[in-house]
Amino acid sequence: MSATPERTEVVFRATKSNPCEVCETGTKGCSSTEDGLHLCRGGPDNPAAWKEVSRAADKAGFRQYRRIDDKRHLTNGHHKRIDPRPVMKPKPKPHPKPNA
Ligand SMILES: [Zn+2]
Repeated sequence: MSATPERTEVVFRATKSNPCEVCETGTKGCSSTEDGLHLCRGGPDNPAAWKEVSRAADKAGFRQYRRIDDKRHLTNGHHKRIDPRPVMKPKPKPHPKPNA
């Protein structure tokens, strides 16, 4: 039994020639899983493009990120699929003003 407590398989490890997509460096040992989860120790180079899904860095200093447009972050790492339907509330109509 190997004791690797990873839930998902790491399919990418950042190197200098193949830098981390999140922090754009290859020197921090960042990795990503086939699930689209990025483990990054540098922090997002472009914070607008990444959503942190971890509450805090792990023991090794890695935080977990997903792309903003990766809707899986809505499940917060759970594999249960949810259907995020936007709630479209009709705007209340303004009260008619009496013509002055
Ligand atoms: Zn990184």
